[in-house]
Amino acid sequence: MNNNLPPEIDVVIIGGGPAGVATALALKNQGEKRVAILEKTRQDNFRIGETLPPSVPPVLEQLGVYDVLTEDEHLRSWGNCSAWGGSQLGFQDFFFYPGGQGWHLNRSQFDASLTRAAQKRGVMVMWETTALGGNQLADGQWRLKLRAKDGSQFHLKTSFVVDATGNRSLFATWQGANKVRMDSLIAVASVFTWDKNAPEDYYTLVETTELGWWYAARLPHGQAIATFMSDSNLLQKYGLLQAKNWTTYLQQTQHIQKLTHDATKQSRLLIQPATSQYLDQMTGDGWLAVGDAACTLDPLASAGIYKALQSGIKAGEAIALYFAGNGNALTTYELETRHQFEVYLQDRIKYYDQEKRWNKSPFWRLRRGRVSLSPAQPIFFPEFPQIPSALRRLNMYLPPKDLQLLCQLCNPSKNASHVVAQFLAQSDRQISAYRVIEALQGLLEQKILTT
Ligand SMILES: Cc1cc2nc3c(=O)[nH]c(=O)nc-3n(C[C@H](O)[C@H](O)[C@H](O)COP(=O)(O)OP(=O)(O)OC[C@H]3O[C@@H](n4cnc5c(N)ncnc54)[C@H](O)[C@@H]3O)c2cc1C
Repeated sequence: MNNNLPPEIDVVIIGGGPAGVATALALKNQGEKRVAILEKTRQDNFRIGETLPPSVPPVLEQLGVYDVLTEDEHLRSWGNCSAWGGSQLGFQDFFFYPGGQGWHLNRSQFDASLTRAAQKRGVMVMWETTALGGNQLADGQWRLKLRAKDGSQFHLKTSFVVDATGNRSLFATWQGANKVRMDSLIAVASVFTWDKNAPEDYYTLVETTELGWWYAARLPHGQAIATFMSDSNLLQKYGLLQAKNWTTYLQQTQHIQKLTHDATKQSRLLIQPATSQYLDQMTGDGWLAVGDAACTLDPLASAGIYKALQSGIKAGEAIALYFAGNGNALTTYELETRHQFEVYLQDRIKYYDQEKRWNKSPFWRLRRGRVSLSPAQPIFFPEFPQIPSALRRLNMYLPPKDLQLLCQLCNPSKNASHVVAQFLAQSDRQISAYRVIEALQGLLEQKILTT
């Protein structure tokens, strides 16, 4: 038992990434006194996710932690430069955005500075402490089971838990929430080091290939990262999780290889999931999920840190309202988060739709907008016993519960437009009509529905 702990804390935040820290700072700004962050690492391990667009510094300023961006540790970034939809490079210059520049981060340093800033503002930070489980007691309080650095286990009681564990959404899944995964995107990266004359490139470089897309960015301390993004089945099929094949594939790129070719050292491959996903339940009695734990965006958007900070601010405000007795505060937070994710999904289709070169590639086909269903098409659901397992396999469209509702609406047979309208009227979720049509097409392709 750790005897240095206070017996009770009002809000425990599991995860000291940008979302967890922003939630803690927002709670402090709302006057909440006893707030703790649990972070399983010391935040000194290498982390992927290094480009900060110009939209982020104003949010750091709003949180009162702008000075975590110091030039000693992070590099300035002038924009993005991409061969997307064609082999020629096009420039998106940050000069034309408010703030006029972004940053290439030493990411672990950035995360650690944010956490220390929260600590200075009175947030209790428990580094190297891992949450192992949590259950709600009869009086509504939470009892969290934790593991300290030395391996000892202990418990902590709190009124409210924030799941800020990133895309693993640990606490929410312990409460029975399910992740709805829209794809199986994986990042496969390597860090390159130069002893001297590291490339002076201040743009993030992006290049598409038939199997996915690459990005490369300069890092502080004479390093650069190159990352290939593709679906897990394709990476396995083409052996791209093996360093030798990955490096050969890198050398076949037109632009990315130029940034890395005279490096003196190359790290082992770093492999990280980058699935676009969301939780079918983001809040509950005395808890909510924030940042990537609530929903995770494709890294193409370079918006993960921005969204994590913004969602932390919203979460902090919602929790303060919940403590003040506002019974709708958590539901409103969840509805807003869902709405933003739907907007992101529409933007994601627009981005991927700009690359039209590889019509047969499963990677690009999966991500392009492809509405082909006629609104007047009659659709029928001939029920069959294996339906639950068939629907679970289609959860890149909608959660199985929603797919089930769509099927039920097609018995007796109806026109596609009627099914969509009825679904949107009956569903308690904020889902765009576009996504419902895509789900109907998926159900038809898999012959769960018939025309
Ligand atoms: C390949 C790739 C490239 C990316 N590039 C960019 C980019 O250039 N720009 C950008 O803005 N975003 C980028 N992102 C996204 C960005 O990194 C995330 O969106 C952002 O980190 C989300 O912040 P978060 O606080 O929600 O989660 P995280 O940053 O994942 O933080 C979660 C924290 O929870 C801790 N934790 C987990 N489990 C436990 C536990 N049981 N107990 C205690 N602590 C726990 C973890 O140690 C971690 O510190 C990228 C993502 C990927 C995959």
